[in-house]
Amino acid sequence: MTRNAKDAEIDSTVYRTLLESTKAIPWKIDWSTMRFAYIGPQIENLLGWSPSSWVSVEDWAARMHPEDRERVVDFCVAQSRAGTDHEADYRALAQDGGYVWIRDVVHVVRNENGEVDSLVGFMFDISERKKTEQELALLQKELEELSFKDGLTGVANRRMFDAILDAEWTDARRNNRSLALIMLDIDYFKQYNDHYGHIQGDDCLKRVAQALSSAATRSRDFLARFGGEEFVLVLPETDEKAAIKVAERCRNLLFKEQIPHETSPLSPILTVSIGVGAIVPTRQDEPLRFVEDVDKRLYLAKQHGRNRIVNGL
Ligand code: GH3
Ligand code: MG
Ligand code: MG
Repeated sequence: MTRNAKDAEIDSTVYRTLLESTKAIPWKIDWSTMRFAYIGPQIENLLGWSPSSWVSVEDWAARMHPEDRERVVDFCVAQSRAGTDHEADYRALAQDGGYVWIRDVVHVVRNENGEVDSLVGFMFDISERKKTEQELALLQKELEELSFKDGLTGVANRRMFDAILDAEWTDARRNNRSLALIMLDIDYFKQYNDHYGHIQGDDCLKRVAQALSSAATRSRDFLARFGGEEFVLVLPETDEKAAIKVAERCRNLLFKEQIPHETSPLSPILTVSIGVGAIVPTRQDEPLRFVEDVDKRLYLAKQHGRNRIVNGL
């Protein structure tokens, strides 16, 4: 063996050892035959399939999750044809029937004429990363849900109310429909807390929210805790007369709950005051102004003796 040939052989042994001792799995595909010229033995540890079972690109495509296959194969073929290095994430089928998330990083090798000669690449096991990504996405979703939910009562919070009112306002204006609002405030709740304690006060708020959540029956009707001991109902495609009916139902539902309030100057059972309004919004109107108007009616209900409904009719 010539010195150069010997060097080359040592080099290739070194390269092979290096390639086959990394966690990444090297491979080579001849472009003209679309067959594997090489795949690192590590593939067997990862997926269970022996290196010799990887014959052509069909084996590669067949050992891919059906939901990923078309997207990944189309993408890789197009990129390879264009001679562009690329990478793709997909779920590879293991011999035991499970799937492993893989990132395939592909380099396109050209011959002296500039034509595609072969593809060489590395497969990386990214299942841990994918797991973390999925967990993060789940947490993100939970966080989003939590940020729109009132922590105590479980109904929507003020932030959600603002978003819903905005959306329904726009919808009502575009479609020339009536949008109704009901605002409720518990009567003498300060006395309730003073008498029964804050913990029972919290419990009472939960019961009120629960009762109110069954007052509105249409799918787009929406209940939120507006703040403290105030709740609000948004009723799309509802006029004032119909909204008053819903407000009456709120009072009845609460009455059925029979929540004791021994120190209320009004009645030994917990009561609420309610303001009701409806509007067919025009460009001149503003949602905030509408909320203020309904809030004024709630204030009037308090002034006129509480435990009642005030509307604009
Ligand atoms: P009014 O009939 O005029 O509405 O009298 P009120 O005592 O209900 O009204 P006010 O707004 O003065 O007091 C509301 C009380 O609600 C005061 C506050 O301590 C209580 N409150 C607000 N948020 C909570 C809460 O999350 N938990 C409990 N337990 N109490 C709350
Ligand atoms: Mg209040
Ligand atoms: Mg109150």
